[in-house]
Amino acid sequence: MRSRVSEPAHKFGRSFTHLRPQKSATMQLSATVKKLAPSATIAAAAKAKELKSKGIKVHEFTLGEPDFITPEHIRQAAKEAMDAGHTHYTPSGGTLELKKAVRDAFERETGVSYDPSQVLVSNGAKHSIHNVLTAMCGPGDEVIIPAPYWVSYSALVELTGATPVIVDTSEESGFCLSAEQFEEAITDKTRLLMLNNPCNPTGAAYTIAGLEALARVAVNRGIPVLSDEIYDKLIYEGSEFKSFASLGEDVAKLTIVVNGVSKAYAMTGWRIGWTLAPTDLTKAMDNLQSQETSNPCSVSQCAAVVALNGPQECVADMLVAFSKRREYVLGRLAEIPNISLATPGGAFYAFFNVSHYFGKPLGSGKVVENASDFCTALLEDAHVALVTGDAFGAPGYVRLSFATNLDNLKAGFDALQGFLNP
Ligand code: PMP
Ligand code: GLU
Repeated sequence: MRSRVSEPAHKFGRSFTHLRPQKSATMQLSATVKKLAPSATIAAAAKAKELKSKGIKVHEFTLGEPDFITPEHIRQAAKEAMDAGHTHYTPSGGTLELKKAVRDAFERETGVSYDPSQVLVSNGAKHSIHNVLTAMCGPGDEVIIPAPYWVSYSALVELTGATPVIVDTSEESGFCLSAEQFEEAITDKTRLLMLNNPCNPTGAAYTIAGLEALARVAVNRGIPVLSDEIYDKLIYEGSEFKSFASLGEDVAKLTIVVNGVSKAYAMTGWRIGWTLAPTDLTKAMDNLQSQETSNPCSVSQCAAVVALNGPQECVADMLVAFSKRREYVLGRLAEIPNISLATPGGAFYAFFNVSHYFGKPLGSGKVVENASDFCTALLEDAHVALVTGDAFGAPGYVRLSFATNLDNLKAGFDALQGFLNP
């Protein structure tokens, strides 16, 4: 059926310069992207960078990105991979070597075995999440998201045409979804629960009992769970972690594990993430990826193999540093009157409520009424960059990433305290 396709102008002996535009040229944006806002975390970081580029010293706590450079042995592996000619396309869903490394690491840590055909390697865990949602959801479907949630969850659900069903969790519950809340949110349109443990932005680390209760609901009601475990290696004393897929065979069948190298190995820029999922879904996501992006970066894949199979001391060393920063942050937050938070058990964020400070003069006398304006005033007056809780579905809160060194944290908290008590 070529009849509806216009023939190119040169076929008719005309040149394009003879075509007269009927009206001034416009590019129509699709309804999907018209609604799409930029990632608030990335936008907040960009705003801080813009201020820095004007020569202003900014205390930057926006991005959830380890400040450490990727460990030496992993960087070395990438250099060797390039020299050995690993510079070509790989299979769209990742090399067999990396799939096996992912499978082996997961088995070592959880005791649960997957086949490499159940592993799909993508361009970062964000891309993995996009793959899962695109492969499983569409208009008319519902996806349950406990709030506060990572900014991209709701946006990525909406991109598929499905509806995010936001379920608020409370500071008192440690920002954890209860089994009762999960059960209540389920309808016959529910396709998925998106669970992030430990959680960005709250740092909430679920207890194993809490996870088991959610798993019982998932199995009884037959609801698949996307378990985003990207912060699984960042668990602090007093908290525990168990992969959702390791809660039982029936649970594993309903679970899509999302993970990657960004946070644990300080490899954010390498863009490697993955899913462990049932074979059919993995195949469908691989088809999607083969059309959309082809394979993740070949050199990054070689580096990720070494990250997973190599020595793990680097992960433990970084955790020690994050632990010290967390202690420091919690100490400084405890000194500030009238803010509240649930102590983060994992990840590298402090998520605290600043609503007491709304409606009162701050910094250079500005009065703010919400967390977004609070962050703007804080950046403009005290040059401290945080991310508004509004972006995470939690009005009144702000997020501070402590993936930065103690000197920065000290200077930032001094400036924050000055802003709150002008
Ligand atoms: N999930 C969560 C909860 C995150 O915070 C991030 C951080 N960007 C990601 C997924 C995606 O990580 P990446 O794409 O860098 O692998
Ligand atoms: N996950 C990080 C954050 O929340 C990185 C930025 C992003 O991808 O949104 O800050």
